[in-house]
Amino acid sequence: MTEHPRTPDGPGLGTRSVHAGDRRDTHGAIHPPIYPHSTFAFARTADLLDVIEERTAGALYTRYGGNPTVVATEAKLADLEGAQAALAFSSGMAAISAALLAHVRTGEQIVCVGDLYGGTYELLTENLPRLGITTAFLPAEHLDRLPAACTDATRVVFFETPSNPTLTVLDIAAVSAAARAAGALTIIDNTFATPVNQNPLAHGADLVMHSATKYLGGHSDLTAGALMGSAELLAPVAFWRKNLGQMIAPEVSSLLARSLRSLPVRVARHNAGAAAVAAFLAGHPAVVRVNYPGLAAGAAKTVVDKQMRGHGGMLSFVLDADAAATAAVVDRLALFSIAGSLGGVESLVTQPITTSHHGMPPAERRRRGISDGMIRLSVGLEDPADLIADLEQALAPLAR
Ligand code: PLP
Repeated sequence: MTEHPRTPDGPGLGTRSVHAGDRRDTHGAIHPPIYPHSTFAFARTADLLDVIEERTAGALYTRYGGNPTVVATEAKLADLEGAQAALAFSSGMAAISAALLAHVRTGEQIVCVGDLYGGTYELLTENLPRLGITTAFLPAEHLDRLPAACTDATRVVFFETPSNPTLTVLDIAAVSAAARAAGALTIIDNTFATPVNQNPLAHGADLVMHSATKYLGGHSDLTAGALMGSAELLAPVAFWRKNLGQMIAPEVSSLLARSLRSLPVRVARHNAGAAAVAAFLAGHPAVVRVNYPGLAAGAAKTVVDKQMRGHGGMLSFVLDADAAATAAVVDRLALFSIAGSLGGVESLVTQPITTSHHGMPPAERRRRGISDGMIRLSVGLEDPADLIADLEQALAPLAR
């Protein structure tokens, strides 16, 4: 793992996303080359020992870390989140599972605040309990009960903000302070916001993770994960990544770096498109509720304004309709593809009950406000007017 010290008044995000971590090779290739190699040779045994015993940084075996292509991408990832260091993974779930396994042991506990991605919920409720690691779930509206929810066994407070799929915004500084007071680490899933709209480490979080499959990759053509934070907190995670075999492939890592160079430009456009779509939906007679950080009011708006620079490309809305009528609206959409992911250049639509939260028990879904009439949109880079026209025709039968 390479560390990446930062200066407080360095270049802006656009400049950093293009240049951070990129060093020319001896041929002057404009971006770092792909080293697909699994293994690296040494002139002398002593040189190999220096790397394996961590006296010098270097590549030895790609799964261990240190592959130059991956190191360059990790430098860019660290820079974007204002972190000392970053680890890249084969998926977002690899990043979450390695972070939790590295920092929570058998008999210890995780506290999870608010709602979260269904896969993470499955990991916390089905996989980790088999290892004796349990999770206490605290609804977002009971954030004030966090100190009481943390016990002597609590090692990590985990949450998403904005969350999937209700787009609930949690106060990162408040949660992080409560976790720290309880002796626990704060780990945030920053996938929905992206580092362009929000840098949780600057608000007191200890580790920030991304499903890089989403906005960081941005084109629905790669699967990857990222974890950023201090070198000290990432070191044990790198050990788990190595032995669970969760290393990102060098080819994917290069593709991810390619995408990161345009991240600020893409996210600015996602933000603008989603804001326009959210405003349209908020004024539509068939829509009961729109969940979008840009529409937050009161105390929620105060939190949004404090920690977000932009409101993101994700939103969900609720129809007064059953699952079948809601599916019919989804099926009438032409520009939005029905697909269970997000963050790509193309607009996507899902009913959370059929995709991201399909595995969550119905009673638990209801408790979290994930209703049969909920539709989640990932607003892509198409012209917002075209997306709005598509939504208008799909909702028209309900408006009559
Ligand atoms: N976190 C969030 C918010 C997600 O939406 C997802 C995937 O949908 C994940 C984590 C898991 O990421 P991956 O699919 O890259 O493993």
